[in-house]
Amino acid sequence: MAWALRAFEADGLAAWTEAVMVPAWTRGEERAELLAGGQVLRPQRLAVTALGNSPGTAAEGLDAEVVEVRTLEEVAALGGRARGKLIFFNHSMGAGPGYGETASLRTRGPAAASRAGAAGALVRSLATATLRDPHTGMTYWPPGTAHVPAAAVSVEDAELLHRLLARGPVRVRLTLGCGFATPAMVESANVLAEVRGRERPGEVVVIGAHLDSWDLGTGAIDDGSGVVMVMEALRQLSLQPVAPRRTVRAVLFMNEENGLEGGLGYAKRHAAELPHHVAALEADGGSGRPLGFSVTAGEGGAALVKRLAGPLSVLEASGVQPNGGGSDIEPLQAAGVPALGLWQETSRYFDWHHSAADTFDKVVPAELAASAAAMTVMAWQLAEAVETLPRVPPPSPAPAPAKR
Ligand code: ZN
Ligand code: ZN
Repeated sequence: MAWALRAFEADGLAAWTEAVMVPAWTRGEERAELLAGGQVLRPQRLAVTALGNSPGTAAEGLDAEVVEVRTLEEVAALGGRARGKLIFFNHSMGAGPGYGETASLRTRGPAAASRAGAAGALVRSLATATLRDPHTGMTYWPPGTAHVPAAAVSVEDAELLHRLLARGPVRVRLTLGCGFATPAMVESANVLAEVRGRERPGEVVVIGAHLDSWDLGTGAIDDGSGVVMVMEALRQLSLQPVAPRRTVRAVLFMNEENGLEGGLGYAKRHAAELPHHVAALEADGGSGRPLGFSVTAGEGGAALVKRLAGPLSVLEASGVQPNGGGSDIEPLQAAGVPALGLWQETSRYFDWHHSAADTFDKVVPAELAASAAAMTVMAWQLAEAVETLPRVPPPSPAPAPAKR
């Protein structure tokens, strides 16, 4: 946060912070082992890591039988068989379904296990590489749900559990030292900077990425790369002989990973300005080369973005696909602001995402530079174009029931 503020200022930009309260959750000790018994001849360590917002276990660990499920629906169907167990969420990300289709097992699985009476949850890492390296991430607990310990398990150990469970009962001891500090929420901040528009300074294009990252690695790809793209885009715009027609505001969001407080806080603080936010563009897909933009806008929006992205054909980065945005700008999208996401090459992104392997050596400078260029060009185009993207109409009210 302090670094980002200083770096914007060193670039000669007007920068400031906006306070947000964020959860103070820390990891602590984490280990798990298969307990001897049945087919397991002697205890064996499993590679696990606590999931965000999980409570810790008792100091001596949580010793429970493991029950495997593939879907959230299967947990509810377990009935009394879930009571006191460790529910193991297995899935097949890496063999077809993507992160989008499987992430709910991590975000919502532990709470579903708790509602079924389970003692805890183990979630197979959402990962496309198998180097016995667990991948963490957020868990979501609807109000009123008792928090139970939840950990991610490496892909290899998930496969081991699956094989053993096919033959008979398996017990695991899970020990987690994670939890919330007192008080559970502490002050942090989003970091912002902008280039004021020359003709319509009240109309704003937001370009964003998130400053926070998971603690296992250093967050170089999620989302350090997005942060430097946004900073570089704003710096490039500030160096142009004239400012663009509208204001371009860089927002480095805090707490995307474990609560979205930065994104929610920005939308709340700037609520009165949102009707004049003409677009929001987020970079949160790693450091890979740019392919184009994903877009959520009203009718005709994708065609306009396709035109605006034209100059990026030299980088083969002028593609347009639907469903644009990013977690941090979802609250803006909910207010009708057209949302774009930088569409990047991500074939290795989920090998490293949320794991100890998210480190600087994964960044290929030329690819990062090309993505920064794509962010720069699209930020300029959105701020300069005479026309703006059509806004997303609010969801239409449910039709009145037909009279009989
Ligand atoms: Zn991210
Ligand atoms: Zn992330």
